[in-house]
Amino acid sequence: MNKNLNEWQEKDLKYIWHPCSQMKDYEELAPIVIERGEGINLYDTDGNKYYDVISSWWCNLLGHCHLRINAAIKKQVDTLEHVIFANFSHKPVITLCERLMKVLPEGLCKFNFADNGSAAIEMALKMSFQYHYQTGNPQKKRFMALTDAYHGETIGALSVGGVDLYSEIYKPILLDVERIEAPDCYRCPYGYLHGECNCPCIEKAEETFARVGDETCALIVEPLLQGSAGMKVYPPLYLKKLRELCDKYNVHLIADEIATGYGRTGKMFACDWAGISPDIMCLSKGLTGGYMPMAVAITTQKIYDAFYADYIEGKAFMHSHTYAGNPLACSAACAVLDILEEEKIIEKAQEKAVYFTNKIKEKFASHPNVGDIRHIGLINAIELVEDKATKKGFDSKLRVGYQIYKKALKKGVILRPLGNVIYFNPPLIIEKADMDYVIEVAYECMCEVLG
Ligand SMILES: *Cc1c(COP(=O)(O)O)cnc(C)c1O
Repeated sequence: MNKNLNEWQEKDLKYIWHPCSQMKDYEELAPIVIERGEGINLYDTDGNKYYDVISSWWCNLLGHCHLRINAAIKKQVDTLEHVIFANFSHKPVITLCERLMKVLPEGLCKFNFADNGSAAIEMALKMSFQYHYQTGNPQKKRFMALTDAYHGETIGALSVGGVDLYSEIYKPILLDVERIEAPDCYRCPYGYLHGECNCPCIEKAEETFARVGDETCALIVEPLLQGSAGMKVYPPLYLKKLRELCDKYNVHLIADEIATGYGRTGKMFACDWAGISPDIMCLSKGLTGGYMPMAVAITTQKIYDAFYADYIEGKAFMHSHTYAGNPLACSAACAVLDILEEEKIIEKAQEKAVYFTNKIKEKFASHPNVGDIRHIGLINAIELVEDKATKKGFDSKLRVGYQIYKKALKKGVILRPLGNVIYFNPPLIIEKADMDYVIEVAYECMCEVLG
């Protein structure tokens, strides 16, 4: 047992079962108890400073304790903290929808609220099924998803996900989902370099649609960026072709923009790069700037209309979450949109992104274990491999990424790699000096582990 625990760490370990953790690991690496946050930095109870370059699990968009978001929530909490959302409404949620309409892809106009990303995914799947059921296609009851996809942790969301680390053990209780082999631009089976092709890999999707398109409700994808898969980036053209296939087979396209939305890929939404509109879009994480648990599934008038009937026909979407449309979360979300627009955050982040990527390439590219450096927006990922020529990865049992993570924490940088992929997904307000610092630390720690 770790002898140097402070009082809070001891009590934490006594009571808390942390998410996505083997708790035995905490014997060696105690929980870091955070006292306060400011900008991209966090400070623990002993006063140590950390660079949060993973945006606290990708949700913190504009830095911690942002003055304007804080002020919006403080103002709201003295007015209305929460109210039942069936038959009741409030100004913050209406304002939020009105604001979102100005930035969403065309056609998305009906907002259904939930309180976390996985719940929004569940809502999208159920909504899609019910739409087809009520429009004369009850045989459509399956879903398609990509290999290595991540859509959350509840049973339905986990079913459409394809990362074995999270779902393998639960397979006996998951939905039977049709899996399409996703593009893999680093290890392209067709021998192309990223973005220098016509996406021949779409043939895998074509084959699947031809086989089961008629019995499928929806295809769900993370547009352009498969985050949990190791920040795998694929070209907009692929997404465009998926949209065409969905149209051809009357299959809904569900865009899971929970991680990619809000400027993470350099545009407001990843779908914007492909110029497409999904039938349902799920948002969370950046939606409230990473302040409050809130999510939304946004859909079209066409889908909405299929549920609109006399009550007696039983066509309503009888789905609810207690905290749907929470006013505090909505007030944060409105402030986020104000800041993005007024301070031109996404445009500025795109300029900084060029600097970030160039610096990372300069520093890392020549290292013998750096197989791939991929990027989109401010997200940059470095895939570490045992053999650069064959692209053979490290054995996951070596926990190479985890070792680097532990070393970087000691130097105040939060990396939390995905397997052997080290990545940065910082708040959009990160400055160049911060970038320089975290790149330096990540490189040092990588060299300490790999030589
Ligand atoms: C985080 C995430 C989810 C799940 O959201 P939770 O709020 O953690 O349930 C779903 N899809 C993607 C792409 C995500 O990044």
